[in-house]
Amino acid sequence: MSVAGVALTQETIGEDLKVTSARLENFSAEDVLRWSIEEFGADVALATGFGAEGCVLIAMLSTISPRTRMFYLDTDLLFPETYALREKLEARYRIRFERRATRLSLNDQAAQYGERLWEREPDLCCRLRKVEPLKEMLSGLRAWITAIRREQSPARADAGMVQWDDKFGLIKINPLAAWSELDVWNYIVTNDVPYNPLYDQSFSSIGCVPCTTPVRIGETVRAGRWRGTSKTECGLHAKRIKTK
Ligand code: SF4
Repeated sequence: MSVAGVALTQETIGEDLKVTSARLENFSAEDVLRWSIEEFGADVALATGFGAEGCVLIAMLSTISPRTRMFYLDTDLLFPETYALREKLEARYRIRFERRATRLSLNDQAAQYGERLWEREPDLCCRLRKVEPLKEMLSGLRAWITAIRREQSPARADAGMVQWDDKFGLIKINPLAAWSELDVWNYIVTNDVPYNPLYDQSFSSIGCVPCTTPVRIGETVRAGRWRGTSKTECGLHAKRIKTK
């Protein structure tokens, strides 16, 4: 199965993911999505945190393959604006997002690990509320689609169009890897894609309420996440990238 002559077989997964990824660099994001669906069928799903990039992919995928699974990680700590956006996207594109979440309620977490774990041990909090639910979701898939862009942070700078995800043990597809922030917003404006209104209030990367702040002029896109700490990632996107 292939799109524009790029086929991925069990052999090529092991042998030349980098070659496949290089060839996909010439594809549009829509064609990378088409390729993903043709290649992995029901075994691929889109993960979204409802960021601007995710909204772009949701808009594209809802046209290309509306039955493809789209899921989000609900930490129970997302902004009210984010939950409202989820509903707006569902109505606009006539889709339904799968909610994935820990079974550990916030009260149970506080009882077990102490109040406001995110302030003392954000890595543990992210592991409990994001990484573990993601691992469970991905265990049933052969590939997942993410909205990361290389420009977003040094940790994402070497993201491939397609790569082996060593952390979760499946293929990871990043159709927007080469996109700039301007590309994202051009697409949103041109196609009237719903987006989180917090972007209009100086937020540039939106996660959980306790760990997200607006950014000031001159700061990097993710500077508002876990402000005042050295933490830059949730742990969903491992730095280490390699072919299988
Ligand atoms: S972003 Fe903050 S609140 Fe959300 S899971 Fe991570 S540490 Fe916890």
